[in-house]
Amino acid sequence: MDLKYKIKRRPRRKTLSIVISSDNRIVVRANQTLPDGAIAEFVESKRAWISKTLKFNDTYLSLYIPKKFIDGENFLYLGGEFTLRIERGKSETAVLIDSMVLVMLPNFIKTPFDYIQGKLVQWYTAQSYMILKERVGVYSRILNVEARSMKIRTLKRTWANCSRLGVLTFSWRLIMAPLTIIDYVVVHELAHRIHHNHSARFWKQVEKVIPDYKVCKKWLRENGRDFHW
Ligand SMILES: [Zn+2]
Repeated sequence: MDLKYKIKRRPRRKTLSIVISSDNRIVVRANQTLPDGAIAEFVESKRAWISKTLKFNDTYLSLYIPKKFIDGENFLYLGGEFTLRIERGKSETAVLIDSMVLVMLPNFIKTPFDYIQGKLVQWYTAQSYMILKERVGVYSRILNVEARSMKIRTLKRTWANCSRLGVLTFSWRLIMAPLTIIDYVVVHELAHRIHHNHSARFWKQVEKVIPDYKVCKKWLRENGRDFHW
């Protein structure tokens, strides 16, 4: 793979560094006098790290179409989509009606973008709580484990985690995935109540409940990027 990068030079810069933005642009910061060849060599020596970072960004951060939070825009939910409807009116909780989520936008709101984004995150969080609470209940019984409590948060780099004390935290973004994928994540976290690691025994435990968990893992890796906005 040919690595394309931009060189930004400063006369008094002492260090040579590589910066990769979330949309995968690579910038090398260098001193004014350092020859291009030396920079190329440096970039080459960091190839493994660069590839890893580019791949990570592809999965989690970049390549997404920025949301505008406008009337008629589509959003993901449980593997399907709903259309955002915005109407002027007094502030209320966003509601799902058929395949639409209605957000009421009060007249005094100066920045609809932030307001509507906030309302949608609130809506996703509430839906996540309801659905995940039920799924955690179902799979706790199957795995015969107990979750101490459950939280929904904005998680940047993971879908969920399970603390040593058994507190499960899920990203509200997870609710954009189909239920089979959500179930895999729930089982994964609950299986950590038995094995707090990713050992072979842990995966065996997951497999007992979700035989095609590898497909789910792959699905999340490939589609999860669409959940970020
Ligand atoms: Zn895990």
